[in-house]
Amino acid sequence: MSASTRDSKSSNLAPKAMKRSQSLDGSYCRGSEKKRKNSFSHGEHIDCTVMKPSLLPLALPKGQSIKCDVCGIAAYFSCPKCRNSFYCSKEHMKRDMELIHPHVCKILTFIKSDVAHSNVKTEREKLKAERIAQYKRMVDISFRMAKRSIQYEKPNDAFIQISYCLRFAFKIYKPHDIGIIPLLLLVSKVYAADKKMPQALNFLAKADFVILQMRHCPPGIKADFFQTKGVIDVLAENYEDAIYSFSEEIFYATEAHNTEHQRTASGYYNLGSVFLKQGKEQIAFSLFMHFIEIMKTTLSKEFEEIIKQEMQELVVVQDSDARKSNMPEDELIDIRKRLNFIFNSISRIDPSVLVKINQIICICYTLSVFYYVVGDYKKSLKFVDRAYLSISSNSYIDSPKTTSATSTPQVSPTNVWVDRLKLLRKHAQRHLLRGVVREAT
Ligand SMILES: [Zn+2]
Ligand SMILES: [Zn+2]
Repeated sequence: MSASTRDSKSSNLAPKAMKRSQSLDGSYCRGSEKKRKNSFSHGEHIDCTVMKPSLLPLALPKGQSIKCDVCGIAAYFSCPKCRNSFYCSKEHMKRDMELIHPHVCKILTFIKSDVAHSNVKTEREKLKAERIAQYKRMVDISFRMAKRSIQYEKPNDAFIQISYCLRFAFKIYKPHDIGIIPLLLLVSKVYAADKKMPQALNFLAKADFVILQMRHCPPGIKADFFQTKGVIDVLAENYEDAIYSFSEEIFYATEAHNTEHQRTASGYYNLGSVFLKQGKEQIAFSLFMHFIEIMKTTLSKEFEEIIKQEMQELVVVQDSDARKSNMPEDELIDIRKRLNFIFNSISRIDPSVLVKINQIICICYTLSVFYYVVGDYKKSLKFVDRAYLSISSNSYIDSPKTTSATSTPQVSPTNVWVDRLKLLRKHAQRHLLRGVVREAT
């Protein structure tokens, strides 16, 4: 998929498709048998023999104005249910169906069918409000899905999802609305993830422009802007710019929340990862530890809350095993990625040089709590064991055999860790045992 087709698609396809659907009221899909045959033979690249009846050919496909929702070339088919999404081929319909379409088909059907007019003003306004609400749902769903695809590093999937978002975003937002900024930033990230830097910078500049137009931009939005800018700087290997961007992210996130907030923690992580790329491990790990400390606090609270619930449930229902984390899933994905990244980075360097054993135990403990919170008790136990390993290696360092007279003896990781780890192990093991019992019965 070339950048130019995607560009023209996001800007041109939507209005044309909508205009057509409104003016023809779906009747163009019910072409005569002859027309249907024509439509099959229209595009040479389409293999008629493999076409399934579920694909609805457009009656008048010669109008190249209708473009495929997946690739942006001329479309010959539409979704038989909503008749509001268009495809060049069976393959692209399938791809859309796998990615997003089933989640939005109903909304698209509603949007298309809602052509009723009323002479009563209040009734008209009600219809309009309903329609706007559906657009909003559409934008929300596609935004979340595209964001998820970026988290899983699938920019090609994100393109298709974000195009649904853009198709309807401008129906609910004016070009200078604050609500449009997160969308512009996400589009920028999608392009950046696909290594299309000019387009990424273009959307970033659009977001910047909207921010500049506002008299008082909320610091949370600015934090998001600088975070996106930093991501693009890193991809372009402008590390000095990235350091500036992520510092701004931390500044505005602190202003929007506080220094101990999760949003601020993400800034510390981002900044640390730039220093790590520059080979400045000492600074990188001190920033990573800020991140870990905040995560430890956040996740421990979550863990205690879950345990409390589980204890209550044990009295009521014996085998309820569901996790009760209230944290949004996309946040959990980011936390998992970041914690593991830090753990792996630390494992790669010589711990006695840069990182104190205490900090490694802290990382292992945080990872263990994280996996407990998401219900992966095996991994939770694995990191409890890893933490114990560090504790025992620490006492080994402390023992007189290895410590020379000149070196300062390390502070023992204290019994606080041991108590915490015991608690984690007890609860994780209880879950695993219960799983074994259930499998046996
Ligand atoms: Zn296509
Ligand atoms: Zn549909």
